[in-house]
Amino acid sequence: MSAAAPVVGVLALQGDVREHLLALAECDVVARPVRRPEDLAEIDGLVLPGGESTTISRLLHVFDLLEPLRARLAEGMPAYGSCAGMILLADRALDARPDQHQLGGLDVVVRRNAFGRQVDSFEADLDVAGVPDGPVHAVFIRAPWVESAADDVEVLARVPESPDAGDAAGRIVAVRQGHVLATAFHPELTGDGRVHRLFVNIVREALG
Ligand code: GLN
Repeated sequence: MSAAAPVVGVLALQGDVREHLLALAECDVVARPVRRPEDLAEIDGLVLPGGESTTISRLLHVFDLLEPLRARLAEGMPAYGSCAGMILLADRALDARPDQHQLGGLDVVVRRNAFGRQVDSFEADLDVAGVPDGPVHAVFIRAPWVESAADDVEVLARVPESPDAGDAAGRIVAVRQGHVLATAFHPELTGDGRVHRLFVNIVREALG
């Protein structure tokens, strides 16, 4: 764990792991997949990818990662969740299966498949606080949104008003609380590394 080149893991149980590893590789960090509890000891921060939160939650249990990962998050390890990853980091998820495990650490309530009710996927240009140089093109795929957030959660982005936005207009889709970052969309799919760089800055900040 060197301060010069932080080691950032990507939880590699299911989902778009490869895309996150490639995005991180552009950010001057050592990026590596995390599959076993031992892998957690070697990372300075962790990305939880998009995918299927129910499946990832079940595999966290099967691979004995649930408690060790909760422990590292409770110690303040930086984490970034995109889409399914956001759902897993939330303290509470609505419209989730009752046996879905929450890792917690992010004091928000998310609604699963919130966009999926109207359209399976949705795209919008968002201003994201902390991301310089203009809006981020955000791709939402059966995405959650943040239904409510505690006072100390920073809202980084909301869906702008537009004719296609429907019920999603004004919804919170990017948040930060301490060293935990989450987006309902997938910057790993658009080749825009700015959200990953924001996370890497959080990891560097945490390393001091
Ligand atoms: N709908 C998925 C879930 O509930 C998330 C979709 C995604 O990560 N693209 O886990």
